[in-house]
Amino acid sequence: MCGIVGIVQQQETKIGKTIIEALTKLEYRGYDSVGIASIFDNKVIITKDQGKISEVSERIDVNSIKGKIAIGHTRWATHGPPSKENAHPHIDCSGEISVIHNGIIENFQALKEELLNQGHEFQSETDTEVIPHMLEQLVKKEGISLKDAIIQVSKRLEGTFAICVVSSLEPDRIYCAKRDSPLVIGINSDRMFCASDIPAFLSKTRKVVLLHDDEFVTLTSDGYEIINFNTLEKVVRKPHTVSWKPEMAQKAGFPHFMLKEIHEQPNSLADYIRIQQPALTRIAEKIYNSEKIFLLAAGTAHYSTLTGESLIRKYVKKPSSAIIASEYESIKSLIDEDTVILPVSQSGETMDTIMAIKSAKEQGASILSAVNVIGSTITRYSDEVLYLYAGPEIGVAATKTYTAQTLAMWDIGLELGKLSGEIDNSEYTAARKLFQEIPTVVKQTIVRNESRANHIASWFAKKNSSFYLGRGLNLQTANEGALKMKEIAYIHSESYPAGESKHGPIALVEEDYPVVFVSPKDHTHSRIISNIMEMKARGAAIVAVIEEGDREIEEMGKWKFEIPKGYSEMLSTIPYIVPLQLLAYYTAVRKNLSPDMPRNLAKAVSVL
Ligand code: GLU
Repeated sequence: MCGIVGIVQQQETKIGKTIIEALTKLEYRGYDSVGIASIFDNKVIITKDQGKISEVSERIDVNSIKGKIAIGHTRWATHGPPSKENAHPHIDCSGEISVIHNGIIENFQALKEELLNQGHEFQSETDTEVIPHMLEQLVKKEGISLKDAIIQVSKRLEGTFAICVVSSLEPDRIYCAKRDSPLVIGINSDRMFCASDIPAFLSKTRKVVLLHDDEFVTLTSDGYEIINFNTLEKVVRKPHTVSWKPEMAQKAGFPHFMLKEIHEQPNSLADYIRIQQPALTRIAEKIYNSEKIFLLAAGTAHYSTLTGESLIRKYVKKPSSAIIASEYESIKSLIDEDTVILPVSQSGETMDTIMAIKSAKEQGASILSAVNVIGSTITRYSDEVLYLYAGPEIGVAATKTYTAQTLAMWDIGLELGKLSGEIDNSEYTAARKLFQEIPTVVKQTIVRNESRANHIASWFAKKNSSFYLGRGLNLQTANEGALKMKEIAYIHSESYPAGESKHGPIALVEEDYPVVFVSPKDHTHSRIISNIMEMKARGAAIVAVIEEGDREIEEMGKWKFEIPKGYSEMLSTIPYIVPLQLLAYYTAVRKNLSPDMPRNLAKAVSVL
């Protein structure tokens, strides 16, 4: 995920300033480095650096970037850490063809080897850089036009991409192509824009054309031409006028980033699944060959590590414990060379976790991490890293990064099961099929439960206190659901093992007291039913998260959320949390609170 923008206009202006203004509107898509390629005096001029837009634009003289044509990029690293070299735009060996890219080129290794053999020199570690060199090869060595070269290259690229190309060979135009990553065109009387999202140019024009997959566009100052790059057929698509306010558009029409990010989960999970990570097998092997495993995390990430803890115990039958990073001292004396430490973090900058892994490393432990932000401090201390590929998360309450972390735990668990023989080949194949379907299942879960969540929230919002109960793996889901309710709706919510709730907490229950039960149809089902009966007998109002068609529990509940069948065991901790994210969100909204900026909380906690 990143923000890209391009401008081609009739007049020469201080175009760098306009590009930076546009990129600022896309910063929610990525913010680890920034770059611009402009054409001036028939030369491609590249200005780029690591850092947020505000930092980089202090270091470079934006006003000195002049011209009629420029492209700009704000990056969210997927291949190669944030650095000046890895920042976009990237350029070919001759310095004449420059490219910005949003997405992931899955076959870049093979393409890069081919290009290295042909003598091309690379300056970055990115997947993107293969594109300008491939174009150079076709244009310079094989003599075909830049347009035809981009069409050919687009067909060879596997993965996701939205690319914009400027070149001194054709200094009056921007070429774009896309598959899966977003790209839109903005139309003005004397200039044209292309961008990852409408807010980039919304202050300049409301006339937009949305591009579809496998489309190629030629953008000049007076028009645009779209063709399908597979069939080469011309596409006729008229602009339409959007009525969004800029603020709304940045959130893709959602009122809050949190809701947008809940809805992004099918995509973020699909991205994680799509990208093969060689580190996965190495991580599984190291865990398998270690003596003991400690998973370290803070906040929401801790609940994902509880899924990891259970799966490691189940599949390799070794001591594994999920430890809250700030409590690391309690296990310090157990750390040695045969220990694996598995830190899990969204930002990779959580200070408690960093301090703990530094100490563990000194004592000889292997550090195998699961992190969202590439190049972050935790990744630099790690021997192996599994990336979460969830994209930037702006809402303070973690949602899409929690499901990505939890999926990573299942991914490691599954590999361990295969290694240890606990999962045979046919079970492994069946489980991998469930992985492929999880984005769709999460999507269906959102569709089926969103208006219910909004409805139940009107009742929940009047409560001061609640319980969230679960058993087995889905105790974690209850924990995370309760945390969301506390964080953004400020309702005291206590999560507890359902079987343990009768040993104390039940004393709090009175008429219409909310008790949320996470109750998939797994081996805990009949016991959960007993726990529901106990609560109901004391007047509790049951909110049950159940498998669709589970009439037994449905009849006992005041409210229900339903999860598609087939996900009550393997991967269950992913879809079962989704209605509870929605419930917390809508409860906060009903209370007129801002879910994106809960009081007293910050996104990356970089203090001890
Ligand atoms: N895969 C490219 C990179 O790591 C593009 C990432 C993005 O979409 O920001 O540079």
